[in-house]
Amino acid sequence: MNDTQRVAIVTGAARGIGAAVARRLATDGHAVAVLDLDEAACGAVVAEIEAAGGRGLAVGVDVTDEEGVTEAVRRVTEALGAPTMLVNNAGIIRDNVLLKMSADDWDSVVAVHLRGAFLLSRAVAAPMREAGFGRIVNLSSTSALGNRGQANYSAAKAGIQGLTKTLAIELGRYGVTANAIAPGFIETDMTAATAARVGMDFEEFKQAAASQIPVARTGRPDDIAHAVSFFASEGAGFVSGQVLYVAGGPRA
Ligand code: NAP
Repeated sequence: MNDTQRVAIVTGAARGIGAAVARRLATDGHAVAVLDLDEAACGAVVAEIEAAGGRGLAVGVDVTDEEGVTEAVRRVTEALGAPTMLVNNAGIIRDNVLLKMSADDWDSVVAVHLRGAFLLSRAVAAPMREAGFGRIVNLSSTSALGNRGQANYSAAKAGIQGLTKTLAIELGRYGVTANAIAPGFIETDMTAATAARVGMDFEEFKQAAASQIPVARTGRPDDIAHAVSFFASEGAGFVSGQVLYVAGGPRA
């Protein structure tokens, strides 16, 4: 539990990694806005936070929608207070090899990861500067290093690293840090969808992945939430512009 309660925004937080991050930041003592495309789908995570004695808010928003993001941050500020923590986690995959990848699949993946992270970061920069404190954590991926069938996703996740370092440089003087986490294989609906696409049972897919990972298991959403909790903490104020690979080894 932190000494100072902050207001956090976590995008794509209705399920998967984002839901684990939202629960963890609430356990750390912060009020948490749970943002996702479908507001109703955020309800279960908010209910868990409130049942544990915390403060939560469900907000439906498409992170690529400029006006929608402005309105979402306004609602968070009104209900919970000015946000000084942001976790850009919302993400999609539209995998295909380059020769079969459509321009739409390129655009939508780049938009959700990069435009979304840009819009949210810009929207919270002012309240963070005013507070003289801020923590931005962006979700990259080991795919930033290159991954077959993911030209769109790997470009977006590498872009997230450049965005993170620039936010760190521009906002540091206001007490704001920006860091990125690059997960390896984490057990969520996203990796289950990949298993389905390649025609494998999810358990078999996980075992195959684990056999290539030095710690001999696949990751869980709480593994990522733990790293986010560190970057978001008061004590991590001198850690900025970093990319932490959370992948059970040097890279997955
Ligand atoms: P997930 O289970 O698919 O959850 C992603 C969430 O983001 C979903 O709730 C989804 O909503 C939401 N979302 C998608 N587009 C959105 C938009 N435009 N606006 C608002 N919310 C949107 O994914 P995950 O596995 O937890 O991944 C979370 C993050 O970690 C992503 O950035 C992903 O790229 C990254 N990551 C994951 C892994 C992994 O192995 N799982 C590895 C490396 C990096 P809907 O349910 O309505 O679509």
